[in-house]
Amino acid sequence: MKKETESIRIQSKKSSFNEHSTPLYLTSSYVFEDAEDMRAQFAEEKEGEIYSRYANPNVQEFIDKMANLENAEGGWATASGMAAVFSFFGALLSSGDHIVSARSVFGSTHRLFTEILPKWGITTSYVDFDDYEGYENAITASTKILYLETPSNPGLDIIDLKKVAEICKRKQILFAVDNCFATPIIQRPLDFGADVSIHSATKYIDGQGRTMGGIILSSSEIIEKIKAFARHTGPALSPFNAWVLSKSLETLDVRMERHCKNALEIAKRLECHPAISWVKYPFLPSHPQYKIATEQMSSGGGIVSFELKNGLSAGKNFLDSLKLFSLTANLGDTRSIATHPASTTHSKLTQEQRTDVGISDGLVRLSIGLEHVEDIWADLIGALEKAN
Ligand SMILES: *Cc1c(COP(=O)(O)O)cnc(C)c1O
Repeated sequence: MKKETESIRIQSKKSSFNEHSTPLYLTSSYVFEDAEDMRAQFAEEKEGEIYSRYANPNVQEFIDKMANLENAEGGWATASGMAAVFSFFGALLSSGDHIVSARSVFGSTHRLFTEILPKWGITTSYVDFDDYEGYENAITASTKILYLETPSNPGLDIIDLKKVAEICKRKQILFAVDNCFATPIIQRPLDFGADVSIHSATKYIDGQGRTMGGIILSSSEIIEKIKAFARHTGPALSPFNAWVLSKSLETLDVRMERHCKNALEIAKRLECHPAISWVKYPFLPSHPQYKIATEQMSSGGGIVSFELKNGLSAGKNFLDSLKLFSLTANLGDTRSIATHPASTTHSKLTQEQRTDVGISDGLVRLSIGLEHVEDIWADLIGALEKAN
């Protein structure tokens, strides 16, 4: 079967009601048949759920669907994307270990690398996203993991997965990719040689701005290590959120088709607008890594970024003039969202620090929703007129 079909048809075990849609298993624990059954399950000689911090049918269905979509042997689902990122590093690293990471990573991941993991003697070196020699040179005898996001947030930089996978194979270190922006519909990092794919399911996978969630997808061997760590540290995904996310996967393919179609059309039109100095979208031929993007992604995704010629004040005016777009921190929602990093998420940095992480004063990030493209466009041109 095709992935699109599998994401719709995979179901966890059925109850005696023979329901068509998977019910919600809102239970914290599971009953054992007798003392021997209880002993065997605790000893891991016999399969069983035991306790919802360990396992739950709704969580398992979400994992099965995601693993299937990304050609992974297994997965571990978590309460948020950051719980997935932390569980991955927490499970696999020890004091003295070293991470090599692309410079532009999600803000909280950056905090994890610079403020939290160093408490346990785990250090990180950053490399510019397209410096492949730099990645290789940054790897030391202590390096265990190379980590990156592609497309990156908010810069939409594209990193060549095959090229980095080759470096990691040669150096015998793990290669992990945050695949949140692409989703399993658009990009499958394991197919290009990555060992691990991590998602914030809060974004496109839920896709309707309702629940938080995260997942790690990898080989059975790595998932066993994550399981051993996560079972006893408690980042478990709630059964309710797993049920929502699992249902959401059934529409992910059709949602992504519309997100990508709308985003490409908006990106093309923005490119011709006089108030804008540049537009970045992975499937625009003007994107600096257009060729790599078209080789490893099946579509350009739903995020478009652009630069307003008149900088900081234009950015603020632009946001204030939008009527349809929501001003909110999420992305990947059915509803279009606009953010202006320089006056919001990155306003505490100096202009120089912002430039270092690729955020200019006029940078706007759009998460293009599922509304009619003409309504999205009308809102954007209206706001662009007032921005300058
Ligand atoms: C949102 C996001 C995360 C964190 O996910 P949460 O679900 O918010 O914890 C990690 N990586 C990327 C690229 C994200 O956009």
